[in-house]
Amino acid sequence: MLLYQSPKFALHDTKSHPESVARIVQVNAMLKSSGWTERCKSPAWEPATQQQCTRIHPDSYLEALQDWCEHDAGRVEVDTVVSKGSWTAATLGAGAVCDAVQRVVKGEDTTAFCAIRPPGHHALSSAPMGFCLLNNVAIGAQYARTLGLNKVLIVDWDVHHGNGTQASFWEDPNVGFVSIHRFPFYPGTGKADETGGGQAIGTKVNIPVAAGIPAGEFLKRLYDASEKLANEMQPDLILLSAGFDAHRNDPVGGLTLEAEHYEQAGEWISNFAKSHCGGKLVSLLEGGYHLQHMPECVDAHLRGIESATRK
Ligand SMILES: [Zn+2]
Repeated sequence: MLLYQSPKFALHDTKSHPESVARIVQVNAMLKSSGWTERCKSPAWEPATQQQCTRIHPDSYLEALQDWCEHDAGRVEVDTVVSKGSWTAATLGAGAVCDAVQRVVKGEDTTAFCAIRPPGHHALSSAPMGFCLLNNVAIGAQYARTLGLNKVLIVDWDVHHGNGTQASFWEDPNVGFVSIHRFPFYPGTGKADETGGGQAIGTKVNIPVAAGIPAGEFLKRLYDASEKLANEMQPDLILLSAGFDAHRNDPVGGLTLEAEHYEQAGEWISNFAKSHCGGKLVSLLEGGYHLQHMPECVDAHLRGIESATRK
């Protein structure tokens, strides 16, 4: 497994916000103490280029974002803040996903995990939203296609709907999207009848679930819907928006998963990638706001992926 981690993600200084510097400090500490840093290959990588970002975000938005960061603008959207270092962190995060995609597509390794922040799946093409500045997974999916891949499937198990990702590919039949999320809940989208537009109808699959859903049922619904869409579209690569805010103790999410479920889900998605696209899987951190349980869930997720790739 390739591992992308950097202390530079702490440059995105959100002060007393739930999407805090402490999240990545704790994740990086876990990656070291659990031996992932030593066991995994950690390539050096560059921030996402303008060209990589503009496949999702217009130049006007990228310029505005850069300008906000230079001016240490603070709150730029109801839930989203930027600091002077946010541009560096955001482009480094999107760049990690692109670098991981490139190495996995080339066959250097089959799986990668990007321990990045800020998260990305709510970011719209021309606006920040819900703690997100650049849509990391969407930028990665577009980059994969420049490498000759025809079809990419994005799975999103963050407790929130990946509205920005869905909007990026709404009419694109070659990027599939499966999102399971609490509903009704922020950001308000992700109803079951949102299935894509034009040529892409049926390539977006939304699984809205109630707050009390048992963890086993949550996972079964995710697995079944993902298998169905993958059988239909036959993807060349799986990208995973791995949020950990569906954990029982998450201060934001309100669902019931525990670390063991993220281990099972990690094993499942690794086997899922093996059966549909030669094991090619790039997982990237989205939400997860409990400072102790979120890193435990990341650890469990990586153990699940590792145990499946060993078999
Ligand atoms: Zn979330």
